[in-house]
Amino acid sequence: RETHFGFQTVSEEEKGERVYHVFESVAKNYDVMNDSMSLGIHRLWKDWLIRHMKPTPGTQLLDVAGGTGDVSFRFINYIRAQREKLYRDKLDSQETLSWSDISKSYSNKDQGSLMGSHAVICDINKEMLKVGKEKSLQLGYSEGLSWVAGDAEELPFADEKFDVYTIAFGIRNVTHIDKALEEAHRVLKPGGRFLCLEFSQVTNPLLARLYDLYSFQVIPVLGQVIAGDWKSYQYLVESIRRFPPQEEFKEMIEDAGFFKVTYHNLTSGVVSVHSGFKL
Ligand code: SAM
Repeated sequence: RETHFGFQTVSEEEKGERVYHVFESVAKNYDVMNDSMSLGIHRLWKDWLIRHMKPTPGTQLLDVAGGTGDVSFRFINYIRAQREKLYRDKLDSQETLSWSDISKSYSNKDQGSLMGSHAVICDINKEMLKVGKEKSLQLGYSEGLSWVAGDAEELPFADEKFDVYTIAFGIRNVTHIDKALEEAHRVLKPGGRFLCLEFSQVTNPLLARLYDLYSFQVIPVLGQVIAGDWKSYQYLVESIRRFPPQEEFKEMIEDAGFFKVTYHNLTSGVVSVHSGFKL
């Protein structure tokens, strides 16, 4: 059967191989390129995703197509901030503090604890995972994360294991989107949430025009100049244009069995965040 790789028609098998090759070759420069191509804005979109998720201590996250770990790192930061707040509230509510309270709040164990929260970063590409793991060590994320090689279309996890499933800038690279959505549904616990951050359709016509110019004229050039790789970045731009618009993607999520499916456009629809719940 045939499918698309950017604007080209290829066999399904070839698509998987080519996508693998793209991310294998961009892995080392992935973070630098993300910052330079989006002018750093991808960071704000990912921050927005986590604020929208509002994870609570104890949340089990599956970050599919998690690449170099950006979404999961933010998840851990959010949980850490929640934990600090819980401590502060607890300390504030006590009129007098004993020495044991104070030493407890500063003990290493408590400072390090994520109160049971955990994120699994699952990606098909071993190079992306390798870069991510190195980054996690440099940034000091010593706990709460695991890195698993796996395909979004056939996740290597048991049913009903996770509270939240995220896929950020990943689903448009998957050959059978419907299969990936079914797998998301399978691994979520009842009540669990699906969240997808993806490039989408720009709603403002003037911005759409500028965005087209930027995407097709500037991005492959930046890819060539910074990473010596025109073709990979050309594919990334083309794959964005081929991805279904907001309403159509919403219906696909509903067809996979999710309820209360909504989406939010960010930056006039340059990206959108789709959300749905498994009941
Ligand atoms: N989520 C990360 C982020 O937002 O920075 C990485 C996004 S990167 C653009 C897309 C990722 O999707 C790549 O790491 C790629 O290897 C992964 N990917 C592509 N096809 C996949 C599949 N079938 N299953 C799992 N991951 C896949």
